[in-house]
Amino acid sequence: MREGWLDRFADAPDVLIGARRPRTIVPVLDAAIGGDEFVTMAGPCSVETEFQLLATALHVRRAGARILRGGAFKPRTSPYAFQGLGLEGLKLLAHVREETGLAVITEVMSECDVAMVAEYADILQIGTRNMENFSLLEAAAQSGRPVLLKRGMAATIADFLRSAQVILDHGNPNVILCERGIRTFETAMRNTFDAGAIALIKEITHLPVIADPSHAAGDRAMVPALARIAVAAGADGLLVEVHPNPAKAWSDGEQSLDFAGFDAMMAELAPWIELKGRRGRELQPATSEACSLEAVG
Ligand code: PEP
Ligand code: MN
Repeated sequence: MREGWLDRFADAPDVLIGARRPRTIVPVLDAAIGGDEFVTMAGPCSVETEFQLLATALHVRRAGARILRGGAFKPRTSPYAFQGLGLEGLKLLAHVREETGLAVITEVMSECDVAMVAEYADILQIGTRNMENFSLLEAAAQSGRPVLLKRGMAATIADFLRSAQVILDHGNPNVILCERGIRTFETAMRNTFDAGAIALIKEITHLPVIADPSHAAGDRAMVPALARIAVAAGADGLLVEVHPNPAKAWSDGEQSLDFAGFDAMMAELAPWIELKGRRGRELQPATSEACSLEAVG
């Protein structure tokens, strides 16, 4: 790495790549993030109902996703919008993990909730609005669960890496960075997807980097294109919103892919992932899916 980079990120020394820390691979159930597999995390923005979550989980698993996403605690732009199911949502996530074998990632918004969320989730997600909530970062670090840290919407790369350093400092090596778009003068898309940040962070740090094309795009039409850019930039995986009926989603429907859209994106990405020398999805055989869905009613 060039000397200049070391100076610029001097406040995040343990995040930087070096002979002692060539690469961090984060184990999550039977998946590994940051290794040679490109890992897709997919699911609804918010956990709504058992049917919604289980149907989505079964579908994304079959299309090659390894991890189920879904928010139970939702930091919404409007205080009057749906705020999430809370504990009930966590229980649904854990139930669907039992049914599908998929690991679960969900957001924790408050340090007071860390113990509860960590009981149900395999990865704790720290949202963009909380990237510099240092007491939350400390508590999340100490939970012992892997932490996916989203870049603050107005955070520089140096700010982002400093927050990752806080998690490492509190004894948790399993940090996954997530680029989800930042606010700029450009308003055509919900956020400006900073693909350059992915390339740079992969170059200078040993941590896995995941891209969230959904919150960057704000519109499902652009999600596959941003996902492809993320693969090319060297991302280790994706965090994508998928909903059985986006028009009826309780949050972020406009940017959620439907099942067919998710399938198309996964198929389209496969050769790009291969080109980067990564192992992509392993298509799962259709199992007793129909039975599981029948059980839900
Ligand atoms: C989310 O993943 O649903 C979410 C709220 O993301 P962000 O924190 O990036 O806005
Ligand atoms: Mn969302």
